[in-house]
Amino acid sequence: MQCDVVVIGLGLAGRAVFSRLAARGVDVVGFDPRVGWVRPGAAPLFDTGALGLLLPCHLELPSRFWGAMGTAGADLLAAIAAHRERPGMAFEATGVEWWTGERAPELEACLRLGLRAEATARGFRLLDGGVVAADTVGVSASEPAEGELTLICTAFSGEHWLDDKVMPVRWQSIAVSAHHPVISRGGSVFSVGGRLCGARWATPHMEVGETVAEPSDVVTAMLERLAVQDGITPIPDARVRGRSAGCSSDPGCAGIVAESCDGLPIVGPLPGRPRVGVLTGLGVAGLTYLPFAADWLVDSVLGAGSARLPACLGTARFR
Ligand SMILES: Cc1cc2nc3c(=O)[nH]c(=O)nc-3n(C[C@H](O)[C@H](O)[C@H](O)COP(=O)(O)OP(=O)(O)OC[C@H]3O[C@@H](n4cnc5c(N)ncnc54)[C@H](O)[C@@H]3O)c2cc1C
Repeated sequence: MQCDVVVIGLGLAGRAVFSRLAARGVDVVGFDPRVGWVRPGAAPLFDTGALGLLLPCHLELPSRFWGAMGTAGADLLAAIAAHRERPGMAFEATGVEWWTGERAPELEACLRLGLRAEATARGFRLLDGGVVAADTVGVSASEPAEGELTLICTAFSGEHWLDDKVMPVRWQSIAVSAHHPVISRGGSVFSVGGRLCGARWATPHMEVGETVAEPSDVVTAMLERLAVQDGITPIPDARVRGRSAGCSSDPGCAGIVAESCDGLPIVGPLPGRPRVGVLTGLGVAGLTYLPFAADWLVDSVLGAGSARLPACLGTARFR
């Protein structure tokens, strides 16, 4: 079967790209080993229930983000902010609080980065952050397809160009008691729509290169210890489901996430191959980047793009 665009990988990124293309009338077919080949349609194959934090500065303290990125970081955050609210991703601007004693340098970095922030008793709050519930896409199964254009939305498709640029990192969350969105020593905690969730994670040096997305008891125990140290109550009998390809409304889960070598998403055409595009390396900040990155990729496919892709996200940065 022939079509205009094939989307390879239907996780959060692939679904965002797929649904945007479908909504704009593009003849698009998607593939993911978990669901096979899919076409836009009425039957909902996906029910992500995904929700998570949308952070206005990746997952770094603003001072570190400014130190690493400088004015390029300010440009990037402005691009993200302009695309934050969009159909299919219900954004709730709760703010995200960081618990840290070093509040003055952080507030100063926020000013430089153009982020709205205020001091709080335990640190500072980024007013433009919040929580997102990602969209559900209705699609129906179909047969294999070849497209004029291929968009790769997974790091693990066998595309060799990506081999030395992305790596699998396993993240795990536990369930915790009620809090507004906060980032403390061990991770983040948030509640959405009255339903309480927690997302916390283990240190990367324990996690890089992992391929099993099952929650591990050792990591759960470590996360619970960190939570207690920060004055957050773990919910020990919360059901921990087996796995999640992304952040999830399940109270406890683990997933393999593609992290890029410089920590930023990789978006755009593969060098020397203009008919193959990529959107991956979203790391643990997928919901922060996706609205902007998926919009940009789809606009560029349709030749309708007016937004400029910050160079720090483009594929050409690796040349
Ligand atoms: C515990 C946890 C908590 C998180 N919390 C947050 C949060 O609060 N905020 C936030 O922004 N992000 C969070 N994330 C990160 C977020 O889930 C990722 O950024 C996001 O899932 C990345 O989207 P993706 O589509 O690139 O990858 P994925 O969602 O992992 O999807 C990749 C897809 O590719 C498919 N695939 C694999 N191999 C192939 C192949 N060979 N061919 C085709 N398809 C293939 C997989 O089946 C999968 O469906 C969290 C992640 C975890 C694990």
